[in-house]
Amino acid sequence: MELAIRDLSKRYGNGVQALDRVSLTIGPGMFGLLGPNGAGKSTLMRTLATLQEADGGSAMLDDIDVLRDKQRVRRLLGYLPQEFGVYPKVSAQDMLDHFARLKGIANGRERKAVVDALLERTNLAAVRKQKLGGFSGGMRQRFGIAQALIGNPKLVIVDEPTAGLDPEERVRFHNLLADIGRDVIVILSTHIVDDVADLCPRFAVINKGRVLLEGEPGAAVASLAGRMWRRVVERDELAALQSSMPVVSSRLQAGRTVVRVYAESSPGPDFEPVATELEDVYFTAVGGHLAPARATAAA
Ligand code: ADP
Repeated sequence: MELAIRDLSKRYGNGVQALDRVSLTIGPGMFGLLGPNGAGKSTLMRTLATLQEADGGSAMLDDIDVLRDKQRVRRLLGYLPQEFGVYPKVSAQDMLDHFARLKGIANGRERKAVVDALLERTNLAAVRKQKLGGFSGGMRQRFGIAQALIGNPKLVIVDEPTAGLDPEERVRFHNLLADIGRDVIVILSTHIVDDVADLCPRFAVINKGRVLLEGEPGAAVASLAGRMWRRVVERDELAALQSSMPVVSSRLQAGRTVVRVYAESSPGPDFEPVATELEDVYFTAVGGHLAPARATAAA
């Protein structure tokens, strides 16, 4: 199965061009859609999830026209939206049963089997009778995945799933996603670079509605090899440095400001070469609108 998105565009009534001729080809496995807040990720996810209209372009899931054959898409779709509300007084098991009924699993015994399997798979079997209102953020996200997996979807869309999860829950959630991504197309929309680095064999960076790059994280990192340099700077040096060279990012490490600079050769005597990370690729591509520093490196 393949999802082919071609020249997808969307402008909101307020004039914001949220998607600007987005083209992506996405096969089975985990695909990371990386971009800062406001990049257009949720707009793209909601459009693919048949919840909002595009102005132009196309999206085909094999032979299914995603923008027009909404019912067919919905039968193949699992969606975990960014804002995922639950009924706080209902138990995980009862809520899943309800969703399964809505998805058309009318037979009670069959529904129970589906719900039991999903609770096991998402590690929620032990808390199946607990009310959703008492769930932690991580449990709630795993519940969100459980409901998204009802009906064995072929296309799973998860929008910003790990924001706010503690490290242990994040790992657990990653393992769950990796498990799902073995069989079906999973699109993981996120602004967290490590989520993509950890999980996704393919990814794209978008900003201001445009695809800035698409490929394999390893190859993208390799493309910057030998061209990233770091230096510890005094805080009052930072502005001058940013205006004189392509500072990709600056961050505090153990209380000191460390800048990472993109340059073909050493940008100065105090710089040391560093191994490239996916974050460098990301900040370089996005041009620093998310980074504390201004990125001027070429995308
Ligand atoms: P992301 O998910 O990457 O944060 P969004 O798709 O939510 O990005 O938003 C992309 C742009 O579209 C932003 O500038 C946002 O303010 C704008 N936007 C999103 N939804 C709406 C809407 N319903 N009406 C108007 N503008 C919107």
